[in-house]
Amino acid sequence: INLNAGPSPLPDAALLTAAASLLSYSETPGMGIAEISHRSPAFDHVVANANDDLRTLLEIPANYKVLWMQGGGLTQFAATVLNLSAWYRIKHQLQPSDEVEGWYAVTGSWSKKAAEEGARMGVAARKVFDGKKHGAGGKFTSIAPADEWDVPQLEEKSRRPAFVYYCDNETVDGVEFGGVDSETAFPFDKFDPAVPVVADMSSNFLSRPVDVSKYGIIYAGAQKNLGPAGVTLVIVREDLLVDLDEAVQYGGTRVPSMLSYKNMADTNSMYNTPPTFTIYVCSLVLRSLLASPPLPLPSPTSRPLAPLSSFADQKSSLVYSELDSSEGFYAGTADKAVRSRMNVTFRLKGGEALEKAFVKEASERGIKGVNGHRSVGGIRTSIYNAVTLEHVKTLVAFMREFREKHSQ
Ligand code: PLP
Repeated sequence: INLNAGPSPLPDAALLTAAASLLSYSETPGMGIAEISHRSPAFDHVVANANDDLRTLLEIPANYKVLWMQGGGLTQFAATVLNLSAWYRIKHQLQPSDEVEGWYAVTGSWSKKAAEEGARMGVAARKVFDGKKHGAGGKFTSIAPADEWDVPQLEEKSRRPAFVYYCDNETVDGVEFGGVDSETAFPFDKFDPAVPVVADMSSNFLSRPVDVSKYGIIYAGAQKNLGPAGVTLVIVREDLLVDLDEAVQYGGTRVPSMLSYKNMADTNSMYNTPPTFTIYVCSLVLRSLLASPPLPLPSPTSRPLAPLSSFADQKSSLVYSELDSSEGFYAGTADKAVRSRMNVTFRLKGGEALEKAFVKEASERGIKGVNGHRSVGGIRTSIYNAVTLEHVKTLVAFMREFREKHSQ
């Protein structure tokens, strides 16, 4: 039972097909999928199918481009800033000495790191919310209601930030914004609708419906719910695509061509040689999500990702119930209202030695990858799409046994 935070398990059906295709791909008999040109018709089909399936699953509007990029989530911490700063400089015809602001809602370790990278890339990174100041014990445990955020009121004519950035699910801290229309959803209405919202959805991508039209940019590293590591999916609104070189006259910096969203969009993500095998596996995962959702659609009008959302709720609530009924033996680290359905983080009252024993005994039972992120310690069970209900039930049974054995 693989509960790693990423890379993490993928659907067996997709992996079996991928394994067979390494030797001989159906469209190129005798040649494996990793052995064909990225400019061949066969690979064109792979990307076209993946894009179509992704558009169906996420209901992506026609005015958004889907890009397959490299360099992981960390590269996007910089790419989002560089592209949107350039867009903003061109749009407002700034002077080179003018500063560009980027606003960050910092709710965990990854958005904190993104804000730091934004500052390195030259934006004035302003925290409109800082979870460390709000959370218990100076830790990322909660998200304050938007009324308590520090969002500057803008004068009619004053300039706006180039973007507002947040992370939808904080993988390390187990803190997640709510889904579309929920009370804990990202507070879009706190911000001027003209300001593009950027979301890092690396660790809850494809786990629930998303209203893509509310975003300027959504990105996700593949290695949780989408596929193997090596590719990052970027969904970007077309009007934000600009020629980065044009921004130089308005004070922008030269940016590597590989980081330009416009280059990637103009070349259908083939500006250079993309990670073809990784993209192929992603295409199989997407197809498997469409072909065999884990639960039936709640109603015929439900959105395509609704079954995966119910599935995630069902699985994570089993673990959370176990924490909450453990009389303090286990203590969830995140506030109940913003508990992640993907990464369940908790501590053991018995302390670090008992946490070590938990990880060891779990591993002996075949339950792998439950140690917390090295920066925060504790326990983290990551329950992505490919983790089954049976796996979670086995985990919960183990947790109960462990508690009975180690109580008092
Ligand atoms: N953002 C989130 C939410 C993550 O979980 C991770 C990695 O786990 C990253 C960004 C960084 O991604 P990468 O390692 O692909 O650069």
